[in-house]
Amino acid sequence: MAASSSASFCFTKRRRLKASISAPTGFVHSIHTTFDQETERYVDLPPQWESLIVQPGDDRQRPRPIVEGEEPSDAEVWTFLEALGPIPDDEFVEYRASVVNLGSVDVREYGGRGLSAAPSEFTMRSLSYYADNTLTRRGARSREDPPARLSHEEFRMALQSVVSRRADAALRELCSFVKIGEGSTGIVCTAFDRRMRRTVAVKRMDLRKQQRRELLFNEVVIMRDYPHVNIVKVFDTYVVQDELWVVMEYMDGSALTDIVTRTRMNEEQIASVCKACLRALAYLHSQGVIHRDIKSDSILLSSKGQIKLSDFGFCARVAPEIPKRRSLVGTPYWMAPEVISRLPYGPEVDIWSLGIMVIEMADGEPPYFNEPPLQAMRKLRDLPAPTFRDLASIPPRLQSFNDRALVRDPMQRATAFELLQHPFLNQAKANGAFLPLLKNVRHSVC
Ligand code: ATP
Ligand code: MG
Repeated sequence: MAASSSASFCFTKRRRLKASISAPTGFVHSIHTTFDQETERYVDLPPQWESLIVQPGDDRQRPRPIVEGEEPSDAEVWTFLEALGPIPDDEFVEYRASVVNLGSVDVREYGGRGLSAAPSEFTMRSLSYYADNTLTRRGARSREDPPARLSHEEFRMALQSVVSRRADAALRELCSFVKIGEGSTGIVCTAFDRRMRRTVAVKRMDLRKQQRRELLFNEVVIMRDYPHVNIVKVFDTYVVQDELWVVMEYMDGSALTDIVTRTRMNEEQIASVCKACLRALAYLHSQGVIHRDIKSDSILLSSKGQIKLSDFGFCARVAPEIPKRRSLVGTPYWMAPEVISRLPYGPEVDIWSLGIMVIEMADGEPPYFNEPPLQAMRKLRDLPAPTFRDLASIPPRLQSFNDRALVRDPMQRATAFELLQHPFLNQAKANGAFLPLLKNVRHSVC
């Protein structure tokens, strides 16, 4: 069904300059999707499409994020560079399409691990981004050859060099795994950490089964480098065989999704979630990090009532050198109109998604949830900003708060800092606000 190819362009001078476009060259038939008449299902869909097409028999209960390629962030470039080590003269890392000017970015500031050489001393000649969005490494080939994709083993080694500990420590110290969750990147288990004598959550992601495997670096780097009281803590990271393991604090309450779908939240509880989430976002945005997947599934609660943001798998960095992102990333019903419209976007997208999450907390689900994902995305792109299902029942302070978040024009939308000043948040309570709800949810799960 889909294939990748390239075409070359040249101009010939006759009377006027006229573009002559060659036939596609280097045609590769990489994806072959068919339709099975018997099961009425598409077979071998590209992973990016799986979250958009609802197939008969799909038992998926929660919508999955979609991820489309884009140029890598500086942090992604940095982690790869660091992982690859000094690059011999006859080799260089190349991305195609958009050039990342390393000369203007001091890569030493990322990750806090320090490179021995200054960026200008790199033997790297060019950085551009590849169509399949995977870092590529060119050996001593001719420049015309398409650069090879990093092999699985090379990628594994790159990831291996940024994780905090060796695989044998994980196998020795972690035991009693019980699966507690599943997402688009892998599974999450509780496990007992014998060394620290505590229960932890372990997110296990298969390197071979990712829509964009380079995003796995986010899972290692972001929670490690941006500690905050409202962000889930990461203790250790490992590469175990073909999996990345992220060992985190276990949030033993539930995901906010369980609460919004099973109980009714009061104003105080909604304000408490908003305040915790906005504090995390204000911090991340000040550091140039966009989460890109804010939704109730990404908010986790502890039995003590702590409220924390998690799941940084899809985040991106912005910096003065790359102030905007472009790719279609996020979960359809929560996506900001500018993302769907394919406009360059920044941290404002998280504020829109927070506004949608507020609707989830009041109505139990996001707007257009009974429509297929593509239809919902079209409506979010084309219609006025959505609002609560029963507006009359929503307290005015909450309405006015969300009116500042769900603004179609990102320039007019409130920032995380501005929303933190909104009077609606005066009702937020530290921790305690959730304890009665957690009991209800637990009761209904058992
Ligand atoms: P998605 O496709 O929605 O982005 P994902 O593959 O990135 O999912 P997560 O959202 O990180 O995975 O985790 C999946 C689920 O596992 C969460 O919704 C939550 O229920 C559970 N979970 C994740 N981290 C923790 C944690 N630290 N403590 C307790 N439960 C957790
Ligand atoms: Mg995720």
